[in-house]
Amino acid sequence: MEEMNKSIKYVKGVGEARAKLLEKLGIRTVGDMLYYFPRYVEDRSSYKSIHQWADGETVYFQGTVYREMMENRIKRNMVVYTLIVENDGEFANMVWFNNKYLKDVFEVGKTYQFYGKVSIKYGKKQITNPTYEPLDSNLHTGRVVPTYALTDKLYQKNIRAIAKNCLDMMGGKIKEYIPVSVREAYGLSEINYAISSIHFPQNMDDYNIARYRLVFEELLMLQLGLFSMKQVKHTEHAPVIPAREAMQEFKGKLPFSLTGAQQNVLEEIAADLEKDTPMSRLVQGDVGSGKTVVAFAAIWAAVQQGMQGALMAPTEVLASQHYETALHYFAEEDVALLTGSVTGKKKQETIARICSGSAKCVIGTHALIEDAVEFANLGLVVTDEQHRFGVNQRAKLSQKGGSPHMLVMSATPIPRTLALILYGDLDISVVNEMPPGRTPVKTYVIEEELRSRAYGFVGKHIAAGRQAYVVCPLVEESEKMDTKAATELAGQLAMLFPQYQVELLHGKMRPKQKNEIMQRFAAGETQILVSTTVIEVGVNVPNATVMVVENAERFGLSQLHQIRGRVGRGSEQSFCILFNQGKNQETRQRLGIMAKTTDGFEIARKDLELRGPGDFLGTRQHGMPMLKIADLLTDVAVLKEVQEAAKKLLRQDPQLKQEEHRLLREKIRELFRDKIAPGTIS
Ligand code: ADP
Ligand code: MG
Repeated sequence: MEEMNKSIKYVKGVGEARAKLLEKLGIRTVGDMLYYFPRYVEDRSSYKSIHQWADGETVYFQGTVYREMMENRIKRNMVVYTLIVENDGEFANMVWFNNKYLKDVFEVGKTYQFYGKVSIKYGKKQITNPTYEPLDSNLHTGRVVPTYALTDKLYQKNIRAIAKNCLDMMGGKIKEYIPVSVREAYGLSEINYAISSIHFPQNMDDYNIARYRLVFEELLMLQLGLFSMKQVKHTEHAPVIPAREAMQEFKGKLPFSLTGAQQNVLEEIAADLEKDTPMSRLVQGDVGSGKTVVAFAAIWAAVQQGMQGALMAPTEVLASQHYETALHYFAEEDVALLTGSVTGKKKQETIARICSGSAKCVIGTHALIEDAVEFANLGLVVTDEQHRFGVNQRAKLSQKGGSPHMLVMSATPIPRTLALILYGDLDISVVNEMPPGRTPVKTYVIEEELRSRAYGFVGKHIAAGRQAYVVCPLVEESEKMDTKAATELAGQLAMLFPQYQVELLHGKMRPKQKNEIMQRFAAGETQILVSTTVIEVGVNVPNATVMVVENAERFGLSQLHQIRGRVGRGSEQSFCILFNQGKNQETRQRLGIMAKTTDGFEIARKDLELRGPGDFLGTRQHGMPMLKIADLLTDVAVLKEVQEAAKKLLRQDPQLKQEEHRLLREKIRELFRDKIAPGTIS
């Protein structure tokens, strides 16, 4: 790939100054330029003689310059340049404004290519600001033409020429790294054709064929990288757990009956548990759709079969809450809670109970994946994740017991396409129904002027026996400032509501302290809980009916939805007040979506559209490469093929060690750098 790595500086038409501009676009090498795909292409090839023109249409034609360019100063700052051109015995005016450079461009009697939008007034045909090009050039007119995202002082004409020069320089010698077998199976075009046709296709078909290959290529790299990060295990044996009867029995213990959606998901889980290959299933469902009970039904089934079931939660608060829930279903001596704040003797005892198997339902945080923790016979692992534990942590818990069944509960509902990329090797179940009797949370987006009215509103609800959350934003600069802002706000609220208990919860507190604060809030001893985003994760206090979010504009929509999901958990009408401290129109619009809908999937979709996949997934810090051409919203079909292809490849050659996979492997490593788990493709 040496040519591809050559500095862009040395390409014809670049030089130092333009190289700097290109660098702003992330283009440093020839390869970067070739992989800097156009935003779109436009077919400028349909030829129309002047006599065929209609008003308003966009045309391509070749015209001969009839006479010298005319120059008219019509205002102090406005000069009009008119060029009369002729073809097939008809005349038309090409018109530009204030561009004196054009005076020397055209030669009388010479023919040029033009492209632009026709206007016909009083029988006169004219194109304002046409694109033009000499007859012997073929980059900007008379063909399918690319349009790129640009930066100041760099023009389409420049970058097209540079792209063309890079292509010429490579001369069809870009190395193919997608194995022939894959290319044949999925009808992918060869790389030189694809790269050349994504920039300068002969026609739209060429472009689409090229695009398909490049989307496939991009998603394949991503998927192979992710799969290897996940350390997929294909051929393992899991314990067979006959689950249907046990789950039936479990349902009898519940104070409510399951929703149809919960039933369906349990059906799917039961079918998996009864097989001897490990289940890998993601349960998606909107906030409050009742995923926890589904998890416990599965754990119950494992325990009835004499196996252990583990549930790992991302925070202590949530783990404690799950522990409380577990006590409804299991005898206390069968349940264990292991978190960071379980220490010393208590910790040793707990670990001993897990190792011996006397603890059957094991609940905890990351503490569960510490080396000292071993399970006697782990049958099922459930991770209740916030945005997701690192893939490796999930795998690590699974490894604690041969190959147990695995269930992942996703707290942020995401569109199916994304789930397929993020959780590529998981089957997906969706709890797409809310338990009955919920009233959708009413949401108001307000600005600073209404603050005192908002507090009046909060006061009114507390007086009626309800509770409220006030969430402060995460200040990016430092956690310290965060804590300070939250502390101040809690102080102000305590002064404002002297008759009520106001407590503060923030990330800097010790887990034990956080737990106690949560307990007091859950018990109704505290009326207002001021917190940083710690409470984002699934806590359940049905009597809390008001949620106030400060600086709501700083949050992503999905995150706001998750936060809002803390209220609306009982039968009372709940409210969410979003303070918008952002001033622009876009922010108002974005937050407006929150007021309009309470459907988490819909919100995730909008969020994704607005922020793009990188920000949405928080992939930047997760090391996932940015997508350049694939669109996760529209390229679902390709994604499915890619996943199939990726699985097949890895089954055949798990570490991509074979010679025909060498370039592919190098490419993936380059893309993911140090993000790939050891022992896989690395
Ligand atoms: P999430 O899906 O966000 O994790 P939870 O599992 O915390 O939601 O459930 C939210 C609340 O709904 C809990 O109080 C739970 O007991 C209750 N719940 C779950 N399923 C049902 C149901 N079928 N009918 C009534 N209430 C339910
Ligand atoms: Mg939950």
